[in-house]
Amino acid sequence: MKKLTFLAVVCVIIFAAPAIAQQPLDGMLDREIAQLVSTYKTLHAAPELSHHEEKTAAFVASQLRALGYTVTERVGKYAQPEWTSYGVVAVMKNGAGPTVLVRTELDALPVEEKTRLPYASTVKAKDDAGREVSVMHACGHDVHITSFLGTAKMLAALKDQWHGTLVMIGQPAEETVNGARAMLADGLYARFPKPDFALALHDSADVAAGTITWCPGYAMASATSVDLVIRGLGGHGARPEATKDPVVLASQIVLALQTIVSREKSALDPAVITVGSIHGGTKRNVIPDEVTLQLTIRTYKEEVRQQILASIERIAKGLALAAGVPEDRAPILKVIESENSPATYNDPELSERIAAAIGRTVGQDKVVKAQPLMVSEDFGYFSLDHQIPAFMFWLGAVEPARVEAARKSGKPLPSLHSSLFEPQPEPTLRAGIKAMTAAVLELMKK
Ligand SMILES: [Zn+2]
Ligand SMILES: [Zn+2]
Repeated sequence: MKKLTFLAVVCVIIFAAPAIAQQPLDGMLDREIAQLVSTYKTLHAAPELSHHEEKTAAFVASQLRALGYTVTERVGKYAQPEWTSYGVVAVMKNGAGPTVLVRTELDALPVEEKTRLPYASTVKAKDDAGREVSVMHACGHDVHITSFLGTAKMLAALKDQWHGTLVMIGQPAEETVNGARAMLADGLYARFPKPDFALALHDSADVAAGTITWCPGYAMASATSVDLVIRGLGGHGARPEATKDPVVLASQIVLALQTIVSREKSALDPAVITVGSIHGGTKRNVIPDEVTLQLTIRTYKEEVRQQILASIERIAKGLALAAGVPEDRAPILKVIESENSPATYNDPELSERIAAAIGRTVGQDKVVKAQPLMVSEDFGYFSLDHQIPAFMFWLGAVEPARVEAARKSGKPLPSLHSSLFEPQPEPTLRAGIKAMTAAVLELMKK
C-alpha cells in the first residue's frame, strides 16, 4: 500500500510538468485549427510538381516571415543549372542553446486526383519534360507543410519555454530525391546555423489519424536506381544461330538477379532488387541488338548496397560470357546517381527521447513502435551520414473508422501516392502539430 502511494506521488510529479506546457498548446490549437484546416485545403487544391514549387514556397516563406522568423528563399542548387530551387530557410534565434532543424517537403506528384473531395486538386501542369500532367498532393506533403506552419506558430508563441536556434526548412523536390542535396550543395549548413538535431514527420496512409508511429534505427531503406544495358548481336528472328540474343540473355539475368538477395547476403540484412522495367526489340521477327533493364535496389546498410551492385555486375557479365557475347559487347551497368537516396536512420537515443516526449503530449497509447520500411526518403541527407542525430516519425492520417473497416475486410486502404489517398485533416494536423512542437520543446526546453 505504501509502495502504491509512493508510486502515485512519483507519477504525479512526472506527469504534472508536461501537462502545464500542454494546456496552452491545446488552447492555442483550438483557436488556430480552423485556419490551419483551411490552409491545408488551399494547399491541397494547389499542388506543384518537384522543381516547380514556386507558389507553395512563397506562401510558406510569407507565413514564416509574419511569425517573426528570418527567412531566406530560393535556397538550393541543382546539378541542372536550368532548374530553380525553391528551398525556404527560416531561422529563429532565441538565446544560447541547441540548434534544431525541422523539415517539411513542398512538392506534389504527377497523379490525377480521384478522391472527389470538395477541395480535390484539378491542377494540370507541365513536368520537367514539358508534358502536361495532372498534379496531386498524393504523398500528403500538404499535411506536412500545414503541420510545419502550425508548429512554427506554436513555437514562436512559446518562446519563453525554449532556448537555442530553430531552423525551419521547406525542402523542394523530395519526390525526385534531389531537393535535400540541392539545399546542402547551396551551403545550408554553412550559410545558416548547422543543427545539432534534425526532425521531420511523414504522414502514413495506413495508420489512424491521431496516432504516431516510430521506428528507432534504420526506418527506411536507401534507394539506388540502376540501368543495365544487355547487349547482344541482333539479326533475323528465324536465324538465332547468327545472333547473340539479348532478349533470352536479359530473361536469364532477371531471374539470376533474384538469387542475390536469397543466396549471397545475410538473411539478417534486408534488401530488395526489383527489375521494374524491361525494354527491347521492335518486331516479332527481329532479334534486337540490346535490351535495357531498369532496377531499383533497397538496402539499409551501405556495405550491403555496394555488395549488391557488385553482384549485379558480376552476374550480368558472367551470363553474357556464358551466352557467347563478345567481350566488347558486355553488359553495361549505370548507377543513376541523381535518383539515389540514403537510408533514413533514426538515431536510437534521440528516437526514444522524442517518442517519450510525444507520448506525454498526445497520450502514450497514441505513440506506437512500428516496423522499418523498404520505401525511401531523402531526409537522410540532412544527417550527413549519421553525423547529426536525426529522427523522422510517422503521422497517422486516415479516418480511424476507415482503418478499422480495412482491417476487418482485409481490403487495403489507398496507399501514399494513390489517386485516392485522403488524409483526414483536423485530427491529423492536431496530432502532427502537437507531436512536432513537443519534439522541439523536448530538445530546446529551458
Ligand atoms: Zn512520396
Ligand atoms: Zn512523401
